[in-house]
Amino acid sequence: MEDLEPGVRRLVAPNPSALTQRGTCSYVLGRGAVAVLDPGPADPGHLRALLDRLAPGERVAAILVSHAHLDHSAAARPLADLTGAPVFAFGDAAAGRSAAMRALAKAGLAGGGEGVDAGFRPDETLADGEGLALGDWSVTALHTPGHFGNHLCFAMGEAVFTADVVMGWSTTLISPPDGDLEAYFTSLDRLAGQGARVFYPGHGDPVPDPAARLAELAAHRQARTAQILQALTEGPATLSTLTGRVYADTPAALHRAASRNLFAHLVALVGQGRVVADPGLAVTAVFARAG
Ligand SMILES: [Zn+2]
Repeated sequence: MEDLEPGVRRLVAPNPSALTQRGTCSYVLGRGAVAVLDPGPADPGHLRALLDRLAPGERVAAILVSHAHLDHSAAARPLADLTGAPVFAFGDAAAGRSAAMRALAKAGLAGGGEGVDAGFRPDETLADGEGLALGDWSVTALHTPGHFGNHLCFAMGEAVFTADVVMGWSTTLISPPDGDLEAYFTSLDRLAGQGARVFYPGHGDPVPDPAARLAELAAHRQARTAQILQALTEGPATLSTLTGRVYADTPAALHRAASRNLFAHLVALVGQGRVVADPGLAVTAVFARAG
């Protein structure tokens, strides 16, 4: 367990991958009656390490879950069973989706669903802007969909725990219907408005320059949108053809994630009337420039 600043400790779970960097960051907030933010994957060894490294007399008073991806949420119920602490989150795995994503999901046209903790249920829900204080710590929940519909960031003073919306080492996966590019842009703006001193992400090291990182992430997605529109000038394309055109320089191991991000852009572009999908918006459609 590492001390990041007074009242913020971190233990990285042993689940490294191309999408999780060294692993999921589990954070311990406060001293004494602590909160555990994102207990991590279903790994009893990680939970045991987390509990063993609390100071004598400390106890877990609350479990906060940023979103219903298994690498963040799967250990929440086991930790609740071990400690008696309630699990707080925005809602279940389908909560917080936009109308467009609900429609895509209902029609079964989005694909996706990688790593989703479909059975996730919090004991207590936290609405956008709701505060929670139990002991010497207090957080404010910020509903920040984009990577996932039920995604919450947590503001604690001038620090914001950004989970999978903003990470320093990588951009995030946006895989419809959980991922939603339009919502992602709104969430980046929302986070910019917080004026945070530091972001503590769900994977990777603290981000010491939040405003610069947010601007960089927005610019990255805008450049990607331009690149997709350019690639479509070569002619209509399926998602897989377009992935080859746009992500030619990306390692093959990341092509699946890349195609999901690409689909998120296409959903947004179809919504804006800049791209058409034949025979209709679906992961299997043929995409072309509008007009
Ligand atoms: Zn995630």
